[in-house]
Amino acid sequence: MATLFEHENVAGYARVAVERGVDRYPDGLTYAIPPALADLAVGERVTVPLGAADRLTAGYVVELTRSTDLDPKRIKPIKDRDHATRRLPVELLDLARWISGYYCAPLGMTLAAMMPAAVKRQAGLVNKTMVHLLAPPPAGEKPPAKQRRVLEVLAELGPAQHPVEIRQLARLAGLSTTGPIKRLVARNLLGVTTRSSVEAGWVKQAVDTTCPETLTPQQQEIVRSIGDTLVGRFSAHLLFGVTGSGKTEVYIRLIQQVIDAGKVVLMLVPEIALTPQTGGRLIGRFPGRRVAILHSGLTAAQRNQQWTMVVDGTADVVLGARSAVFAPIPDGRLGLIIVDEEHDGSYKQDQVPRYNGRDVAVRRAQLARCPVLLGTATPSLESWHNATIRASYTLHRLRKRAPGLRLPKVTIVDFIEQRKHRRDRRIHLLGPILEGAIGSTLDGGGNVLLLLNRRGYANYIACPDHQCGWLMGCDDCDTMMVYHVARLSHGEPVGGYVQCHHCLTEQRLPATCPLCDRKVTTFGLGTQRVEAELQRKFPELAEGRTMLRVDSDSMHGARDFHDALGRFAAGKIRLLIGTQMISKGLDFPRVRLVGVINADTAINLPDFRAAERTFQLVSQVAGRCGRGTEPGRVIVQTLAPDTPAIRLAAAHDYVTFATGELADRTRCGLPPVTRMARIVCRDKDYERCRRVACTLAGELKQRAAASIRIHGPAPCPIARIAGKHRQQIELLSPTPGLLQDLLTVARNEGLIKAGAAMVVDVDPISML
Ligand SMILES: [Zn+2]
Ligand SMILES: [Zn+2]
Repeated sequence: MATLFEHENVAGYARVAVERGVDRYPDGLTYAIPPALADLAVGERVTVPLGAADRLTAGYVVELTRSTDLDPKRIKPIKDRDHATRRLPVELLDLARWISGYYCAPLGMTLAAMMPAAVKRQAGLVNKTMVHLLAPPPAGEKPPAKQRRVLEVLAELGPAQHPVEIRQLARLAGLSTTGPIKRLVARNLLGVTTRSSVEAGWVKQAVDTTCPETLTPQQQEIVRSIGDTLVGRFSAHLLFGVTGSGKTEVYIRLIQQVIDAGKVVLMLVPEIALTPQTGGRLIGRFPGRRVAILHSGLTAAQRNQQWTMVVDGTADVVLGARSAVFAPIPDGRLGLIIVDEEHDGSYKQDQVPRYNGRDVAVRRAQLARCPVLLGTATPSLESWHNATIRASYTLHRLRKRAPGLRLPKVTIVDFIEQRKHRRDRRIHLLGPILEGAIGSTLDGGGNVLLLLNRRGYANYIACPDHQCGWLMGCDDCDTMMVYHVARLSHGEPVGGYVQCHHCLTEQRLPATCPLCDRKVTTFGLGTQRVEAELQRKFPELAEGRTMLRVDSDSMHGARDFHDALGRFAAGKIRLLIGTQMISKGLDFPRVRLVGVINADTAINLPDFRAAERTFQLVSQVAGRCGRGTEPGRVIVQTLAPDTPAIRLAAAHDYVTFATGELADRTRCGLPPVTRMARIVCRDKDYERCRRVACTLAGELKQRAAASIRIHGPAPCPIARIAGKHRQQIELLSPTPGLLQDLLTVARNEGLIKAGAAMVVDVDPISML
């Protein structure tokens, strides 16, 4: 055993988790600490030499030791510390260790994901030159007038105002340049230092000045009951409240209690760039407090500034999307975590580490010994199971909408039945009932939201001859190409291209069938096609530019979306047609009609959560309606009007839906009753892909407990993406512990390794 006393040039040893796919147990690689870095602390970012070529690589100190069992001659020294970034709090390191273990992700990559890229490269960092007095001028010497003025100003300023930024000093001395100051520096009468700070020019978002509402008795009871748990102990709460029932007001009252007690609140919302109202409302309600906002819509400099504000402990509330669950709140300061719209799929990260922000939030609350509050109108079955059958969460219910707001009346329309009433042969995406309701709502001064969860114009490009049967698929994926039009002219498509929504390849729309030379046709649904039909049926909308399509093709970033929502709120836009972007959390009093063009887009996907997603989508978009004084109306078009998910969403009956769905999942042994991990092997060579997957499945079966079921390998529902074949293995375990044991063994033996050839997804939410 080597200790630091035997090697004078070593001040100890550190385990460093490098920002690479190195997956090693115990965590991190051992490095020697040079004496110059003797004060190195756990959580610091450092640079270390890696591999035979000693490539300099960034990493994080995860443990410090005075001795090592390794041969000290073979241990490389740490090159340097990262002077610019702050140390990660210990609570975050503990969280990273849990994520690394639970989600089978290398620790270094997990830690790298915790620190935003903008922070690592210190975006927006400004170096300021600070000036202070060194010595009085030699006796008898009389400096030139401008220099004398500088010295006088410095002498007048109290010690609290030293040192002074050089340009500010010039201004105070009435100088137009900093030349005289620099000459004093050159004469060693003034000293200079550099101070670095992040200046982002951060402008807070629009402030909502809504007066605090009085709470309903239900809200009061929930605030009191959760408030009682703010006592430095972990507890988990599910707030199940129908849309428009005032969940946000409950959050705000609890936030007030926590920050009054000197603690910090972390609040997560899905895709905050899409829900600008939440940020504005928080800032408006806590005017004297610091609300840090972390999301991808910020500039790099803003993100760095907000992160730095959190790590320095000056933020009282931290609001952000998924990755804000890693907000570097100082150890011991976290008082409450709120996860709004906890059911939302965007909390799941689709790259390593493949964590779910909601589940990480629950774990973080456990580590920080504080309560976590999950809120939604449509609980995920996982949370519902935890709050009912397992009773590990406390369930709180807001059964009614806020006073004055009524739940909208939902009408289910059978799409096939509707078609019979059309005389022309043209395909209509708006049936007569929906079309009539749009007209009367617009005439009556209301706004309209239309949802279709599919981008583009048409999702099939085909030969019109059924005998030929040609369909345009992607060359590199087992999927169909989607037709996007370049623009619409009086409701007719002009130009355009075809795109694969999986590998994003684009091609020109072929004019004729490559097999038989007939002119191709396009069919199927897409938001552009609805837009075209609206232009034909409501030409005044198109001419007055009071209609807008909102999807990832038409919106280039959060700013476009904020702008569109602003115009919609002001009544300048009367009708929005969009994908699920518009189903989330928007709160606009003018919306009096919500139309779901086709509720079936998700229901037939080969995914056991298809019904749950359909229920959520229909309920959430319906909830955007009737938030003003006028009651709202919702029209849901479907080819399958008897589908329970659609019928129960229309009846606002979550409990019946969840009870039935949970019974089905129990019968089939699917999550949340069991825990699932999905392993996808990917290879350009089909045979090799299949062989690797078969071998892996065999090895896993040998090591698995008897109660773990292993399905596969089998081709994924999309069997090839971007030229790579995909074979999946599903592991289903009665408990999370057994699944973790198996995954840990497989990982330590090197059987599973996240990378280009293999995806390991624990608690997957997408099964395609
Ligand atoms: Zn493709
Ligand atoms: Zn053909």
